[in-house]
Amino acid sequence: MENAARSANDHLLTADVIVVGGGGSGLAAAIAAAENKARVVLLEKNTHLGGTTRLSIGSITATRTALQKKAGIQDSPDEHFEDMAKFAGELAPKDNLALRRVLVDNVPDTVAWLESLGVSFFGPMPEPPHRKPRMHNILPNSRAYIYYLVRRARQLGVDIRLGAEVADILIEKERAAGVKAMIDGRSTLVRSGAIVLASGDFSAGRELKREGRPELAEVDAINSSNTGDGHLMARRIGGVVRNAEIMYAQLRFVAPPSTSLVLRLPPWKALTTLMKAGMRWAPPAVLRPFILSFVTTYLAPEPSLFREGAILVNKRGERFTDELRQPALDVPGQPDKAAYILLDRRLSTLFSAWPNFISTAPGVAYAYLPDYRRNRRDIYHEGNTLGELAKSIGVPAAALEATVRTYNGAGRTGRSRPPLEEGPFVALGPVRNWVVLTDGGVAVTTEHEVTREDGRVIPGLFAAGSTGQGGLLLEGHGHHLGWAFTSGRRAGRNAARLARGLPA
Ligand SMILES: Cc1cc2nc3c(=O)[nH]c(=O)nc-3n(C[C@H](O)[C@H](O)[C@H](O)COP(=O)(O)OP(=O)(O)OC[C@H]3O[C@@H](n4cnc5c(N)ncnc54)[C@H](O)[C@@H]3O)c2cc1C
Repeated sequence: MENAARSANDHLLTADVIVVGGGGSGLAAAIAAAENKARVVLLEKNTHLGGTTRLSIGSITATRTALQKKAGIQDSPDEHFEDMAKFAGELAPKDNLALRRVLVDNVPDTVAWLESLGVSFFGPMPEPPHRKPRMHNILPNSRAYIYYLVRRARQLGVDIRLGAEVADILIEKERAAGVKAMIDGRSTLVRSGAIVLASGDFSAGRELKREGRPELAEVDAINSSNTGDGHLMARRIGGVVRNAEIMYAQLRFVAPPSTSLVLRLPPWKALTTLMKAGMRWAPPAVLRPFILSFVTTYLAPEPSLFREGAILVNKRGERFTDELRQPALDVPGQPDKAAYILLDRRLSTLFSAWPNFISTAPGVAYAYLPDYRRNRRDIYHEGNTLGELAKSIGVPAAALEATVRTYNGAGRTGRSRPPLEEGPFVALGPVRNWVVLTDGGVAVTTEHEVTREDGRVIPGLFAAGSTGQGGLLLEGHGHHLGWAFTSGRRAGRNAARLARGLPA
């Protein structure tokens, strides 16, 4: 198969290694390739780097790290391997155990490498059924990954092109020989010795979502850029996508506005050292607001809110779903695809202390209603009466009052939930239903080479991160980022060695 014809108008670039995508896996691949003496060009379709990695909570799960050792925790990749199986449940037969082995054996070194670049973690935190605390959480937030990775990539001379959207892989003499891309609005042919696809998942890719889970095809993604371009490009030249049906949609609060000063601060070492010291010594009342002011991500409200009696209302003030079934699926059909979670005084008190939290949150593990009142004024609304609350969220007061009246009367599912009676009333939102991530990835070898259905490698083509997930299950917290950085580094190194004619 040949498809490398160059049209007269194409601009031409050359590199040893092309990396497609500038999120966590792509940046890790670019750095590893450059450290292996390859000339690297990284093509990112957005005008900024970071991808979903930059939007994430930032946890990474690993054993034998400096933090585990400091905490006196004896742990091993073998135990990690066994514990990952406990998260899989009925999905277990779909897992790629060879790739799981690659992850658990290499992620300890990945954490040490990230720390050597300047990244700071706190933890490790427990996350059963992991038998030991293994979850490492980044400080102050996941933007720090991108800050330190970009700094290292630039030191190494990686040629980073923004606004560079890759459309196709060129095949010459049965091998991947380059890509076709629009760079700065110009059709460009980029030739190379090897390519790493690191274009993220397909959470915003209608075509692949429709194939895997048709009911989620029209549900918005948190990262609207991840349209599965790498998956589709690989498929067009013989690659295959594994586990396309595994994807996660969930109610989440909108992200905080990123205009605050703290969110624009670079993650200086001094700041993260201060945060770490504060975690050890400062009283929680002082520390919580400080830590939470660095939260940048989309937090997920706990389903227990609904079990205890909270209801969902839309922007017309109407209740539109049974909160105890699958309420998220009904949210995209509401005005602005949004809803509010309504609480009365009883629920507000209940969700102000352990064990009833509103959401998990980076840095403090669990966030309660007072945390939202203090730190998320954009999504926290309160009124002494339903009428007052309606005004503050901009819904018709009469409609909201009628909704609560009906719910308190006949509308409560099985009458198992208490009525919403006494003010002050609180509305948290907007919440939306988002496809958070998709786990389908192109089939790869344990060296991250893209393969065909029959297992034959497509020479010159590697894939990393979500694109190169290859049927690996990454349930639980902290495995996706672990995989993104680990597979990125390994794919980048292997691509550089191939491009330079060195043995793998
Ligand atoms: C809200 C949220 C919280 C999360 N929290 C965690 C967590 O705490 N721990 C954890 O382990 N995982 C977490 N995850 C998952 C994790 O963030 C992702 O799995 C991981 O970041 C994927 O990294 P990646 O490099 O594969 O993709 P990305 O970081 O998404 O990078 C892909 C890049 O490729 C670019 N791109 C796409 N197509 C093209 C193209 N055609 N040409 C050029 N560039 C292209 C995109 O613009 C993007 O910049 C979270 C996800 C979400 C949504």
